[in-house]
Amino acid sequence: MSADLEGFAKLVQDSQSIVIFTGAGISTESGIPDFRSPGGLWEKNRPIDFSEFLQSEEARRESWRRKFAMEPVLSKAVPNKGHMAISSLYDQGKISAVVTQNIDGLHQASGIDDKDVIEVHGNTTYAKCLDCEARMGLDRVREIFLPDEILPTCESCGGIIKTATISFGQPMPVTEMRRASAAALTCDLLIAIGSSLVVYPAAEIPLMAKQGGANLVILNREPTPLDPHADLVLHREIGETLAYVTKM
Ligand code: NAD
Ligand code: ZN
Repeated sequence: MSADLEGFAKLVQDSQSIVIFTGAGISTESGIPDFRSPGGLWEKNRPIDFSEFLQSEEARRESWRRKFAMEPVLSKAVPNKGHMAISSLYDQGKISAVVTQNIDGLHQASGIDDKDVIEVHGNTTYAKCLDCEARMGLDRVREIFLPDEILPTCESCGGIIKTATISFGQPMPVTEMRRASAAALTCDLLIAIGSSLVVYPAAEIPLMAKQGGANLVILNREPTPLDPHADLVLHREIGETLAYVTKM
């Protein structure tokens, strides 16, 4: 066995309170494209930032069109080997929290309790009013929007409806960021998986774990700017690596 896998397995075995920090890379094996890889979402579409979404009706329409175009992929996606390996560590009681930048709900689908998944960039499986935070199901949005692209508005207060995700330029969810920071500062190992680690403030979370005295492992196909801070870096495929290490 190669030394990096052996080192990784040992760190996992020796740790009792692990924080998992995931990015889009963990879900590519479930058929959901990431942003920055070749063939990723940014090759097709520049992201719509929060101020554009607020200011322009056309941007809101385009955002809903993209959402419903992605829906067949998202609604069919199921957890892959990587998600399942994390869930088996969770069942062994080793994981204190799963902090995710993903919005796809696949950690919960893999069997991690809702209360232990901290979604710092929100969730795309439902929509929310930007004013009063009332939830609106996607089926209801689809009913209003799809026939002639009438923009959905809140049925309680008339406010703007948006998927419950955090766009660039949108304030981060305060409670989730606080919980994620606390988990990182008190864990003994943080494993960052499938994230380019360039989106802030989320990318501060792995650094907080280091500040708190934990070990940091980065598992990602390509280098990240935080590699120099890690105790161990694995430039490997996620599913097979996690499956291998958790079976040992
Ligand atoms: P990113 O696209 O910037 O980085 C993903 C990283 O994962 C890349 O460095 C890539 O090389 C690596 N990767 C992809 N597949 C891999 C595999 N099988 N094995 C090993 N490495 C692999 O993603 P990010 O850092 O999460 O930042 C993008 C933002 O976009 C996130 O904040 C998230 O909110 C959002 N997003 C979410 C989803 C989702 O929920 N599944 C999908 C796309 C984008
Ligand atoms: Zn409202």
